[in-house]
Amino acid sequence: MLPQSFKIAIASGKGGTGKTLVATNLFHSLSKAGISATLVDCDAEAPNAKLFFKSSEEHTRVVTQKAPVIDENKCTFCGKCHDWCNYHAIFFLPQPPVIKVIEELCHGCGACLAACNYGAITEKDVELGVVTTYTLPNRNILAEARMHTGVYSPVPLIKAGIKAAGDHRMVIMDAPPGTSCPFLQTVARADYVVLVTEPTPFGLSDLKQSVETLREMKKPAGVIINRVGMGNDEVYDYLTKENIPLLMEIPFERSIASIYAKGKLIAEADAKWEQLFLGLPDKIHV
Ligand code: SF4
Ligand code: SF4
Repeated sequence: MLPQSFKIAIASGKGGTGKTLVATNLFHSLSKAGISATLVDCDAEAPNAKLFFKSSEEHTRVVTQKAPVIDENKCTFCGKCHDWCNYHAIFFLPQPPVIKVIEELCHGCGACLAACNYGAITEKDVELGVVTTYTLPNRNILAEARMHTGVYSPVPLIKAGIKAAGDHRMVIMDAPPGTSCPFLQTVARADYVVLVTEPTPFGLSDLKQSVETLREMKKPAGVIINRVGMGNDEVYDYLTKENIPLLMEIPFERSIASIYAKGKLIAEADAKWEQLFLGLPDKIHV
């Protein structure tokens, strides 16, 4: 029995393994059963979960971040702000004196502002992207984080998207692919991580990397194998050896690919899948 409020991240070490298929079908199945749930599309570089749902209301909020503005009339070109910036976001040359903020690299940490003893730095708001919350006919929420082109990091948008999800019985986070910072920021907020993989050498390699990362973070995790039948059994051997729960298998079938390619959900098309996804939380033990 899961706690009253529970956050699940659906993640994978690489894109295209079926992470969104799992997240959207789980959300649909819980919603249809009347369970209060939110789906947060944290893949802010290319969110697409909304394609599978119709909403009755939507609300968009712009997400901004502070970035420094340097007044060269007050600046003594001491270089301290450059030294304090961990993200190499301030370009500085002492002679001839040049100082420039590289906004694309700035993380809005404010260290440069604190460093400057000459009052030469102020801050401005820079737009990073938007978080849109869609209210579905059953009042469950889909929150989508979408970053603007050219923005360096989706992390502030992911945080804002998860915050916008609010307090629902079940919060499902469709994590960004990979194991870099956006993935870490998403799974750090989860009570449990469902890793989606495929039974191929590439899938296994990415899975191992994700498992190692989650173990470092002490995050409980289970695995869903997608496209069962297309590769080999090595992933099963790995799960057994590492004592990682296998939560579900999704076969490599043309009918499933065809439903998904049409922007439809397999849990909508086939009651068997609706029941399987509805039963997924019961297989999670924390
Ligand atoms: S706010 Fe932080 S990241 Fe941005 S330029 Fe200043 S020190 Fe660097
Ligand atoms: S710390 Fe202030 S005075 Fe020194 S280089 Fe940066 S902006 Fe200029």
